[in-house]
Amino acid sequence: MESKMKKQTDHNNKGMQLRTKILLGLLTGAALGILANTQLGGKHPLVEWVNHFVAWPVGQIFLRLLFMIVMPLVFASISLGVAGLGDLRRVGRVGTKAIGYFLATTFLAAATGLALVNIIKPGSGLDPSVKSELMAAYARDASTKISDSQAAGNFGIETFIGIVTRNPVKSAADGDMLGVIFFGLMFGAALTLIPAARAKPMIDLLESLNDVVISIVGMAMKLAPFGVTALIFGVTSRFGFALLLPLGSFVLVVLCALLLHAAVNMSLILRFIVGLSPKIFFLRTRSALVTAFSTSSSSAALPAALSAAEQGLGIPPQIAGFVLPLGSTMCMNGTSIFEGITVIFLCQVFGINLTLGQMAVVIVMAVTTAIGAAGVPGGSIPLLVGILAMFGVPGEAIAIVMGLDRILDMSRTTVNVYGDLSAAAYVAKSEGMWNASMVPPEDRPAA
Ligand code: ASP
Repeated sequence: MESKMKKQTDHNNKGMQLRTKILLGLLTGAALGILANTQLGGKHPLVEWVNHFVAWPVGQIFLRLLFMIVMPLVFASISLGVAGLGDLRRVGRVGTKAIGYFLATTFLAAATGLALVNIIKPGSGLDPSVKSELMAAYARDASTKISDSQAAGNFGIETFIGIVTRNPVKSAADGDMLGVIFFGLMFGAALTLIPAARAKPMIDLLESLNDVVISIVGMAMKLAPFGVTALIFGVTSRFGFALLLPLGSFVLVVLCALLLHAAVNMSLILRFIVGLSPKIFFLRTRSALVTAFSTSSSSAALPAALSAAEQGLGIPPQIAGFVLPLGSTMCMNGTSIFEGITVIFLCQVFGINLTLGQMAVVIVMAVTTAIGAAGVPGGSIPLLVGILAMFGVPGEAIAIVMGLDRILDMSRTTVNVYGDLSAAAYVAKSEGMWNASMVPPEDRPAA
């Protein structure tokens, strides 16, 4: 027990250093990328060479290492979470609370975004020549997204049936997170139903799988400072700043809405419902937030989120291991803000006036598709294309915002992961299993 605690403390100390290194990597990548972009231009042979032979491989290896362990991690942590909660009624209650919280905060986020985009109206003044230029420049990317959207089909009853996976191994191979989560839930539930003596060897095995996976995460995270530098350099060095300048007010609206939600809505929830200082919450989770920002993927950030919740905030693993995997695919506050704003922005660009009733439909669709989107880079775009058609905006219009998507994706994913972590804190608090005084004291900053 003591040695486990010591290991944890060592991990925290190491984590502190790593956090700083990752942050430094982020700043270095951004500075070098912007320098290369402004001094040489995104298409300069040297910039292209560095991107192709250095930044891209390093970034991809880092991402692949994280993705490699996501499925076993989700399976082990969900099954152990459910088995650890013991009683199935309790599992149902925790699940209901988590999903209720996901829905409420995603709705609040979408409404915040919609209010802002309707006040500022960034789409009304867009020059028609810029519109056609952007649509031509990103036509190819847009058509891939349109076919992805058609392949994804409509969001309906099939989506719910699809959660009950026919083959958990295939779900894992296809990156179908909900299928793996469902199988993990069934597995954990079954472990509570069979005699304890029979369940024990399997629980031991899952615990050891969990430890092995966490240890692989540790190895992958050693590469994080370089991976993050490479990923950020890739984005900033090739970014079409000039072409995208006219979209400045759209970007600003999305970023302001994300900031408003994180800094105001979430802070109020944290302070008054969770009972924890938002500043402490932010400081203890920032390594997960930086990972989310640099990978643009809630799934890739899941290992870092689990470690931030358990080691940084002291949330019990049964709750963190259950709520965070669910949240990484179902709770996307930032995505719902982005989707709502983008739909309204493109309606404004195409001169489509929406009634109040249609605005309400936009909110509902933004929430629903944010729940349905995969936690991978650009995971929400195919679903967004599907919503556009409902309001008479051609799917091809997505090309207008495609060039910007990486920057916006990084920012919205950070808010998504912030929301997931707050959900774990909320559920743990409301179950009476955790409170602010349980945040590990050793490097707890003053409020
Ligand atoms: N990249 C986002 C995430 O992983 C999903 C999206 O909005 O595209 O959370």
